Amino acid sequence: MNRALKSTWTDFDNGFETIVSNISEVFFLLDRSQHFMYLNPKALRFFGIQDEDTSHITLWHVFPFEKGSKLAEFLTFSILENKSITDQLYSTSHSRWFKIATYPTETSIAVLIADANEDKVAYEKLKKNEANFRLVLDFIPHIAFILKSGMEVSFLNQRWTEYTGRTLEAGLGTKWAEMIHPDDYAAKRKLWDEKSQSGDPFETEFRVRNASGEYRWHSDRIIPIPARNGTITMWVGTATEIHETKLNKETLEKAEMMTNSGHYECNLHSGKITFSPGAFRLFGYPPNSFEPTLKFLNFVSHPEDPPKINDVINQAIATSVSFEYIRRIYLPNRQLRHILTKGTVIYNSEQKAEKIFEIIHDISDKIAAGEALRQQHHFVRQIAEATPDLITVIEIDSFRITYANIEVSTFVGYSAEELKKLDYFDIKNLIHPDDWQNFKDFFNGFRSAQDKEIREIEYRGKDAGGELKWFKVRSKVFERNQEGLPTHFISITQDITAKKLAEKELKKNEHFIKEVTEASPDLIFVVDLTLEKISYVNHSFYPDLGWSIDLTELSLNDVKQKIYHEDLPAFEKFHSELKYISDEDVKEIEYRLQNRQNRWKWLRERGKVFQRDDKGNVTQFIINIQEITEKKEVLEKQKENEVLSKLVEKKDEFMSIASHELKTPITTLKASIQVMKRLIERHTDENTLLVFVSKATQQVNKLTSLISDLMDNAKIQAGKLNMNISAFSMHELIMETVAHHSNLHNITVNNNLDELVEGDKVRIEQVITNFLSNAIKYSPKNKEVRVDVKRENRFIKVSVTDFGIGIPEEKLSHVFDRFFRVEEKSQEFSGLGLGLYISAEIVKRHKGEYGVNSQLGKGSTFWFKIPLKQAFSIKEE
Ligand code: ADP
Repeated sequence: MNRALKSTWTDFDNGFETIVSNISEVFFLLDRSQHFMYLNPKALRFFGIQDEDTSHITLWHVFPFEKGSKLAEFLTFSILENKSITDQLYSTSHSRWFKIATYPTETSIAVLIADANEDKVAYEKLKKNEANFRLVLDFIPHIAFILKSGMEVSFLNQRWTEYTGRTLEAGLGTKWAEMIHPDDYAAKRKLWDEKSQSGDPFETEFRVRNASGEYRWHSDRIIPIPARNGTITMWVGTATEIHETKLNKETLEKAEMMTNSGHYECNLHSGKITFSPGAFRLFGYPPNSFEPTLKFLNFVSHPEDPPKINDVINQAIATSVSFEYIRRIYLPNRQLRHILTKGTVIYNSEQKAEKIFEIIHDISDKIAAGEALRQQHHFVRQIAEATPDLITVIEIDSFRITYANIEVSTFVGYSAEELKKLDYFDIKNLIHPDDWQNFKDFFNGFRSAQDKEIREIEYRGKDAGGELKWFKVRSKVFERNQEGLPTHFISITQDITAKKLAEKELKKNEHFIKEVTEASPDLIFVVDLTLEKISYVNHSFYPDLGWSIDLTELSLNDVKQKIYHEDLPAFEKFHSELKYISDEDVKEIEYRLQNRQNRWKWLRERGKVFQRDDKGNVTQFIINIQEITEKKEVLEKQKENEVLSKLVEKKDEFMSIASHELKTPITTLKASIQVMKRLIERHTDENTLLVFVSKATQQVNKLTSLISDLMDNAKIQAGKLNMNISAFSMHELIMETVAHHSNLHNITVNNNLDELVEGDKVRIEQVITNFLSNAIKYSPKNKEVRVDVKRENRFIKVSVTDFGIGIPEEKLSHVFDRFFRVEEKSQEFSGLGLGLYISAEIVKRHKGEYGVNSQLGKGSTFWFKIPLKQAFSIKEE
């Protein structure tokens, strides 16, 4: 500040100086010799003057090229005429237009240089005003004001009137407050009370009503001017319209919130960082909750990132290009986020890097999604490479193959790279001309395909060897462009040549098969399970069943109605199982069906799988029906005859055994009688005679026993085996019976009980006799026989054990059967095979049990047990 000027300025002037030093335009004062008296900071920067004392510098020192130019002319004229002049001048050294205004006084001239684009209105106004500073102030595009205590305005510039449409007087004192938005005035007042006495400048933001009644955002900076005695009684300020900026800022904040982004400014000198609310949010803190610093940024960053980011920023400062990097930060909850940062360096007027402005965006989700997508792509590609199918991805517009798995290469004989080079015409060459149009339509049709839709086409194309093959293609949309239109589709191609050939062959065969089936006397038809109908039948008339109706009209249920009730379950089972048989199997069933004349006819049905669907489920059967009633009748007869002839055989066998068994004792008896006759004729003594009498008696007994066995058998068959129940001593009975047999074998009896038993004594004796005589008969070598009698609960059990030939295990279960004899031994030992059968019947009649244990070659134990007391009902019989 020029001392000479300074001393001339009153406090009031001081206020003006504060204003001009704060305006954004270049302003300076020259004395009559064109030495600088005063330059505002903008002017110092504009002329590049660093020196504090400027009184020795003339304008032409700093503006040499302008001497004798329009500016020089301008100033000279203005001084000589003592007139204020404004004009636009082009500065070659600045390469731009400036608006110049001069205000001469008696001792000096004030000059204002502004950007040529400044407000035209202000420019016009400028012309009309006279007073130096006032004019300057009126010229600037902001509302300038001087305040006294109590926020009373003592000065306002012309801009006030321009903006509010009110006179200057209407703004003085406290009247200006009427033009301030009431919501903002209170805040402004509060801040004033807090700050006005502190001596520091302060800023407020508030809305001012313009001439058309609209409130627009302004920001002012109020600077206190201390009086000579040091007290503060005056403040100056300029209010700048920031409406658009403010709204922009608000919109920006909203946008940042919506897009998960933010921005911050970093002062490179102080390290101070100004976060936008969005930036706070991105870093996980409430907006304006603290003052971030570079240190803070480094602290929350992933340790690997700050050095890299520093390099990026230093590079950007050096080259003055904008930059971009990703910073990984930890949120307060330790979550790691990826922050994409785009920034520019802001330089001061000396081209020194001053600030960095950075826009940040949380792209963690995108990165995660990208990673997932990358992995998915990788996975899908792996699958595509592993599958034996031919997989291709084709671009719809160009017909180009953008992806083909290895199988495709092997099949068509082109490498993956060569495949990608194939163009429309190459593809056309690979396709059968007759199928080309279809193929093309298929391609183009994809432009309208839905994502989930799968489209199919069959066509003929050439393989690696140039051979024509049939292909079946299944395709699906693979990729869409930004407008959502399909650009690529993915295809799986199958070689169906073999299938096609088979189909052709089948058609040929079909004719032949038809001829054969039609010639067949059997009924042959195909049942379609999906249609639930007969889809083919070789005869429409089947004479054996008297059917002349169209079989294809017949349902399975109609058929079921006519099936013989006994055969129906089997018939239903047959049809339900038919679905699960293998292709080679033929299933067969025979059943009776009523024909038109209500006669039962035997049918043989044979079923076989005829067709399956893709999943392998049976869809069609072929059924062959033969009428076999006659065959069946013959067979039935045959069966009957077989049974009869078996019976006859059995009878013959029995007759032969029986006659043999009867003949043996009779022969012996006859011989004895002849001997006796001769002995009587020779008068032989009685004793000799008695021997033969007893021999004859033995044979008679044997015959009697045989005959009684035969009679018992007949009785059993007729159900007439009667019981005579009485109480008897089992012990005594056994001892008596054993006595009859003990002449040949050594029979021991183990019996420790002597209780009376109820039963038919004669019949029980018959059982014991049978067991004993068998034991003796079938143990010709070992003469030991043991009889055990014991009590088992309410039963008495008698067992006869021998140590003879024994019985093979597989025959054991049959020994009690009628006429059964162990075959191998039937020649050696006489017998009818009736004894055990009758014994078993007797035991059964006593409500008893019987059984045998035996080992071949070691002996047998036959046993029976009967209840000690017989029930009343048995006694009655
Ligand atoms: P059979 O008159 O033939 O002896 P059985 O009904 O008494 O008729 O016996 C039937 C068959 O059981 C006999 O033919 C014999 O083969 C076999 N059998 C019976 N008892 C014995 C036994 N104690 N040891 C071996 N085989 C026996």
